[in-house]
Amino acid sequence: LNRSFDAVSDSRTRLLFAIHSVHRSGWAPGTGGNYSALLSGNPFRLLMSPSGFDKGRLQESDLIEVDEHGRKISGAGNPSAETLLHVAIIRQAEARSVLHTHSVWNTLLSEHYADQRELVVSGYEMLKGLSGVTTHEHREHVPILKNSQDIPALAERVADLLEKNKSFHGFLLENHGLYTWGATIEDALRHVEIFEFLFEVLGRKLSFNGRS
Ligand SMILES: [Zn+2]
Repeated sequence: LNRSFDAVSDSRTRLLFAIHSVHRSGWAPGTGGNYSALLSGNPFRLLMSPSGFDKGRLQESDLIEVDEHGRKISGAGNPSAETLLHVAIIRQAEARSVLHTHSVWNTLLSEHYADQRELVVSGYEMLKGLSGVTTHEHREHVPILKNSQDIPALAERVADLLEKNKSFHGFLLENHGLYTWGATIEDALRHVEIFEFLFEVLGRKLSFNGRS
């Protein structure tokens, strides 16, 4: 076994753990969501969940490798159409892992705040789980982009957004889901957990207020 084989095998184990953890939490039911980890920058090699699989049953051997154009390099399954969004995020946010969920709360909030094109979260201790955030007083801006099936166009909008502002930890696609990322697979998974917690808090708070 050489070193690079070990590194790839380690990434497979860690990415699969993140995928199963997200699926178990109910944040990407059915075949929803897609997940990636950067194996190398040059040549660009991304380890990814294959399209269409029930992620709860996914095994390490099901993970595929793709290049910067979203073309499959190895593995049995097919790349998700959304692979180009992962590539754009990894390049612009200098991330090494991208996780994408379709939860009830992120879907509801992306619709509720769609007209404002962003939602802002502030005042919660859990914000400190986002990389670089040290106080609950932090204001986290979460952009909301219009959903589209034209993934290359959407990938350009994502690249534009992240080029202009490096402070984001994630964004929402309207009526679709959350994209978040991190310097490691574990950072990206923690960001999913933090965002999904905060979205549920905001969503439930809106429901309370609606009743009062
Ligand atoms: Zn999606």
